[in-house]
Amino acid sequence: MGIVTRNARYSERAAGFLQRPHRLLIDGDWVDSLDGDQLSVTDPATGQTVARVAAAGPRDIDRAAKAAHRAVEEGPWRTMSARDRSRLLNRLAELLREHGDEFAELESIDAGKPLAAAASFDVEFSLRHLEYYAGWPTKIAGMTLPVAVPDMAVRTERVPVGVAGQIIPWNFPLLMAAWKLSPALAAGCTVVLKPSELTPLSALRLGELICEAGFPPGVVNIVPGTGALAGEALVSHPLVRKIAFTGSTAVGTSIAASAAQTMKRVTLELGGKSALLVFDDADLDVSVATAMSAAFANAGQNCSAGSRIYVQQGILAEFVKEFAARADAFQLGHGLDAGTTMGPLISARQLERVTGYIRGAEQAGATLATGGTHPPAGVDPEGFFVRPTIVTDVPQDATIVQEEVFGPVVVVLPFQDEQEAVHKANDSAYGLAAGVMTRDVGRAHRVTSQMHAGSVYVNTYGFSDAAAPYGGFKQSGVGRELGAENLDAYLETRTVWTSLA
Ligand code: NAD
Repeated sequence: MGIVTRNARYSERAAGFLQRPHRLLIDGDWVDSLDGDQLSVTDPATGQTVARVAAAGPRDIDRAAKAAHRAVEEGPWRTMSARDRSRLLNRLAELLREHGDEFAELESIDAGKPLAAAASFDVEFSLRHLEYYAGWPTKIAGMTLPVAVPDMAVRTERVPVGVAGQIIPWNFPLLMAAWKLSPALAAGCTVVLKPSELTPLSALRLGELICEAGFPPGVVNIVPGTGALAGEALVSHPLVRKIAFTGSTAVGTSIAASAAQTMKRVTLELGGKSALLVFDDADLDVSVATAMSAAFANAGQNCSAGSRIYVQQGILAEFVKEFAARADAFQLGHGLDAGTTMGPLISARQLERVTGYIRGAEQAGATLATGGTHPPAGVDPEGFFVRPTIVTDVPQDATIVQEEVFGPVVVVLPFQDEQEAVHKANDSAYGLAAGVMTRDVGRAHRVTSQMHAGSVYVNTYGFSDAAAPYGGFKQSGVGRELGAENLDAYLETRTVWTSLA
């Protein structure tokens, strides 16, 4: 298929970027893949190929891991002061801010996001992560320990783990890159970052800014490629000391097993099937608005999406009616078209998967309050669009209630009382997030204290912040990202004993 870099919607700047050769960033240089492989990048709202990008293979990952290893062992990065690391992170944040509009447009073209959402969420939160962690290098410190052994000075040092391999998904390409890079660099690690094969563009552009900011060669290497070739090579590489992964639980499980062979440190941010509980004393209008963003933000391609909504029986009918009316008001379209409030799914494969779940629910006897498998009207028929869909009348053990769909598909089910609500919310293999809508403070405390979830929201849903730890219970992952806790994942503790005798 040919490449279409010009589309009346794309700015000259974006078209110019798409046309450029896209290579791998290894050891401070932009290089071709040793095997000459390429990835095709698709605009998911049109189905057209908009760029080709060098695809890293195992030999490229080897080059990148060695460059990152040299940079952490021998280069200027190793001896750089904490203050200078902090300044580099701040400089990168400044550059990203200067080019924020460009990044929002790239995310819109590459990942199908409405432009305003890409600017106000993806770019803005990427900046916040860089700025937050830019403050940390000068605060990472060891301790002096009051040991019982006489004539001994004992202290701890906090030292970088070494080379971090970072593997990120396609749903928030820039944000995930910033979210992963910031703590690793703050801790003094070096990085081999593998963006998703579906959405490599913003990470590559960020790589240009990383070079411009003045990070020494090899500190950040950016190597788009497939999971099977580049991803697996990164996870098994002996010089990589830590893997940070965001993606599906299936891939996370195989990564944990593979990384164990070389005892790599691992943090995993995986899937979810999060519940929002709406009690009958809650403000209905606020509850429906909260459910809208919980279920449909980023077209539901959101690991912490509130994709199971449990509503107290007495208000269920009214809730579903209002929720469906608001869901119908989404304007689907290209993210760069004015008025678009929901973009497409990421790929033809994801479209097939999501419509397959809807079809399966219908065949199992579910009622659709709105949405369905018919393509939406008024959008490019080659784009990967699916209408916001609300599923009701299904049993708790139905596939659509238990499995992650990762699209704008939400299940709304009833509960009778607090005990049943808590039981149903926790009845999931996952445990990423949960929410409770109620005016009763006592109930809010009782319910939140019983949720098996890494983030719990009361009368709101879905916030994240660089300062607030984020991650999952159960099969939603291992470890925490963001906040001070995430630094621990990139640091080792060295205990130093000095005899004073
Ligand atoms: P995915 O697991 O297929 O891919 C994620 C990344 O892993 C991609 O870069 C991919 O190339 C790579 N990969 C695939 N197979 C690999 C392998 N064998 N070894 C190493 N790397 C491999 O997931 P996806 O389809 O890109 O993203 C959607 C999934 O990610 C959803 O399940 C979602 O819940 C999850 N997710 C979780 C979070 C979170 O914070 N918990 C955030 C975003 C997405």
